[in-house]
Amino acid sequence: MKEKKIEITYCSVDPAELPVEDRELIEKAKSMTYSSYAPYSRFCVGAAIRMADGSIACGSNQENAAFPSSLCAERTACFHASATHPGMPMKKIAIAARNIGIVPKGCEDSAPFQAKPISPCGACRQALLEYEHLHGPIQVILYGDEESFIFPSVESLLPFSFTNF
Ligand SMILES: [Zn+2]
Repeated sequence: MKEKKIEITYCSVDPAELPVEDRELIEKAKSMTYSSYAPYSRFCVGAAIRMADGSIACGSNQENAAFPSSLCAERTACFHASATHPGMPMKKIAIAARNIGIVPKGCEDSAPFQAKPISPCGACRQALLEYEHLHGPIQVILYGDEESFIFPSVESLLPFSFTNF
């Protein structure tokens, strides 16, 4: 038996230090949390994808009474990106979230952004990775109000993905 190790490298960043295009992408992801439809989880996630032509495709989580019919913000965004920009590389994705469950009903817009970054679920990582395999690395920017992370690629978040063997 031989032990093997996987290491990933990511950066902890202050968004204020990022280039204006990245700050714009983060602001778009943050703004998308206000369009979430999350009456069940009361957890609002926004995602924004920078396309190769500089445009932005975006999404937010959309829930449904039939829970498995719901879709995460990241897949809403990447499917929107592919549907509206077929064949175009996705360069970066920014993700932000607010927990509206901590504020009284009717005050949802006052809920703050998560202090620590949230990261995409496994299904979203797999979906994003397919576009990455087609067109090259998609940088992942995970926003937190106190700390944000940048990963160089989706693959760095999903070693041993379904199609990597
Ligand atoms: Zn997901």
